[in-house]
Amino acid sequence: MTDVQGSHFPARHWHALKDGRIQCDVCPRYCKLNDGQRGLCFVRARMGQTMVLTTYGRSSGFCVDPIEKKPLNHFLPGSGILSFGTAGCNLTCKFCQNWDISKAREIDRLNQLVGPEDIARAALQTGSRAVAFTYNDPVIFLEYAIDTAKACRAAGIKNVAVSAGYIAPDARAEFYAHMDAANIDLKAFTEEFYHTLCGGHLDAVLETLKYLKHETDVWFEITTLLIPGQNDGDDELAALAAWVATELGPDVPLHFSAFHPDYKMTDLPDTPLSTLARAREIARRAGLHYVYTGNVHDEAGGSTYCPGCGTKLIGRDWYQITRWHLRPDGTCPDCGTAIAGHFEASPGTWGRKRVPVRFGSG
Ligand code: SF4
Repeated sequence: MTDVQGSHFPARHWHALKDGRIQCDVCPRYCKLNDGQRGLCFVRARMGQTMVLTTYGRSSGFCVDPIEKKPLNHFLPGSGILSFGTAGCNLTCKFCQNWDISKAREIDRLNQLVGPEDIARAALQTGSRAVAFTYNDPVIFLEYAIDTAKACRAAGIKNVAVSAGYIAPDARAEFYAHMDAANIDLKAFTEEFYHTLCGGHLDAVLETLKYLKHETDVWFEITTLLIPGQNDGDDELAALAAWVATELGPDVPLHFSAFHPDYKMTDLPDTPLSTLARAREIARRAGLHYVYTGNVHDEAGGSTYCPGCGTKLIGRDWYQITRWHLRPDGTCPDCGTAIAGHFEASPGTWGRKRVPVRFGSG
């Protein structure tokens, strides 16, 4: 196994304050810490006169997933992607769907000690086309994610970030220079939702989306988890879709996914398919070309249609590709319209399976 420095890896993006505290500049929380304190994310901590990352090389588990599970529908469709996370999070979403990982306070939860080169090697060995930094937000394990991304690029493996986009400008520029694709959670389109349910701010996420579109070549898609009665009103959805169309353009894919009661929001029902379908219709009316439903069996809502002539180009049922009707150059065979994204001559054959990957006892 690669020798990693483990729990006290030197962290970047911080500065000393005049009052003796140290400010972490990785995310818009800008935690100000006295010696021995951890930030809200729990995994970045002050030790003496410096900041450390306590989860470098520590993973909460690896799995080869369908890339459609990230979700990414326009980036190497059908391929397998080696996915992992660590522990902690810089948001405090009451509806968290991964709370056992994101809220982990025990380093014991992180049962595998795995270095960047190990991950790149495992990606090659499992036939994965890409590595995903996911399960919890990679913003908070930036140094580990970037070193892994460097090792993966050197091995010809792509890098995918699955993030809430809650990251400060300098850290954002460093982080996304190493990413090839991303899925960004846009959790709602009101400041009130972000403030009361996530402990964050909407503007910072919108800034990340604009940054990705206008300052980088990173392919990105957006996911909004629809929570009954919280962020699924017609007006809010129309405003969200209009913002995406205007600020990012109609070719950015938007996924509406189904909520399942979890963590601190167990008193709400599952999102009905009718809500997802309504949201999809609203976003399509706003001019978006690629709008999907997710976390449900809905072949109509999970498939890709040509924005030029309406032909179904890529059929999907959950994470399974059921139809491939795309020219090798990524254009529609019927009308020649170019489909936005990164496509190859044929889709991958990974299917919908999930395969855990073990690295030894660690
Ligand atoms: S990354 Fe963690 S320590 Fe840094 S500002 Fe955000 S929550 Fe605080």
